[in-house]
Amino acid sequence: MDIKENVRQFKNEIPEDVTLVAISKTKPVEDLLEAYDTPIRHFGENKIQEMTEKYKQLPNDIKWHMVGHVQRNKVKYMAPFVHLVHAVDSLKLLKEINKQAKKCSRSIDCLLQIKIAEEDSKYGISAEEAEEILNSDKFKEFENVKVKGLMGMATFTDDKEQVKKEFQHLKSVFDDFKEKYSEMSILSMGMSGDYKIALECGSNMLRIGSSLFGARD
Ligand SMILES: *Cc1c(COP(=O)(O)O)cnc(C)c1O
Repeated sequence: MDIKENVRQFKNEIPEDVTLVAISKTKPVEDLLEAYDTPIRHFGENKIQEMTEKYKQLPNDIKWHMVGHVQRNKVKYMAPFVHLVHAVDSLKLLKEINKQAKKCSRSIDCLLQIKIAEEDSKYGISAEEAEEILNSDKFKEFENVKVKGLMGMATFTDDKEQVKKEFQHLKSVFDDFKEKYSEMSILSMGMSGDYKIALECGSNMLRIGSSLFGARD
């Protein structure tokens, strides 16, 4: 795997206003450093412990994205440094992120994960549930957490029309939210297998793992 060449190709292919997040889960820090040199500054992990280990070993100008499901009791470990939490799916989790961010005297940016896949995925909420959170009095009291946008994962399928339909749905929810909530600016959708469709549908943040670093074991 020529990581540098892979990153270079991706950067050529995607518009400048789209953020490329290199998903480095399970990969050794040497691989992350290769991507870092290209240069890439946005890295994503799906386990808090692994992200924290890598954070300690790598340059401190890296922006760390937590893209996996977050357990509330682990928020404290990433609160001092995490750049963006992609998969927030409850008010309870936002409350804990707010609490831990406050302890660190900072504010943490989050995305709400919207369930768009047809398959029975465990995680994510509906657009209605997301609105309930954003409109709740409790949420409005949180001063150390900001919801900056939405994240979604399409069904894992070769059916491009299906994937397109799901991404278009998320984009329409995002456009609607952008009008109602001033801080919405990030739409995180698209992985190695479906990023081209995601770009067509208006994504401005791609989460790319295996196409940069090679297949995971
Ligand atoms: C692993 C992962 C990715 C990257 O997947 P690839 O198919 O390797 O590009 C993107 N988003 C999330 C939430 C992930 O867990």
